[in-house]
Amino acid sequence: MVKVCSKCNNMFEDYLDKYNMCPNCRDDEESLLRRIKDYLWDNPGTTEKKLKELFDVSHNQLMEWLREERLEITPDSDIVLRCERCGSMIFTGKYCEDCSNKIKTTVNEINNSMNKDKEDKKLRVMSINRAKLKESKMRFIKNDN
Ligand SMILES: [Zn+2]
Ligand SMILES: [Zn+2]
Repeated sequence: MVKVCSKCNNMFEDYLDKYNMCPNCRDDEESLLRRIKDYLWDNPGTTEKKLKELFDVSHNQLMEWLREERLEITPDSDIVLRCERCGSMIFTGKYCEDCSNKIKTTVNEINNSMNKDKEDKKLRVMSINRAKLKESKMRFIKNDN
């Protein structure tokens, strides 16, 4: 499908309907992210203001990378990222370790109960089949007599 790049407004073809930016802008973004990561590696604790000055990167862009776990905040940075569930400070992603564990458990519980549902249904079908089989055998015996 043809889309309009959210950054440069050029049209681009996106067969998989996966991106909101054209390949050029995606490359730009990728290399910008790489440069920022390299810089942070050498200069941990760089402020957001400094990053803006050096790389002309927006707050939203930084947040997006952090939420997507493509970037990590260094412990002494002034950028604040909070868990979307409990609000405690985190370095990357959407949730703190505690909450993501809890969320994982909930998802597993839902999956388990869904599987249990399926099992229940299977058992029900089996017992119905068995009942039918019994019935047909009885009929068979009757007919035979
Ligand atoms: Zn573009
Ligand atoms: Zn949390």
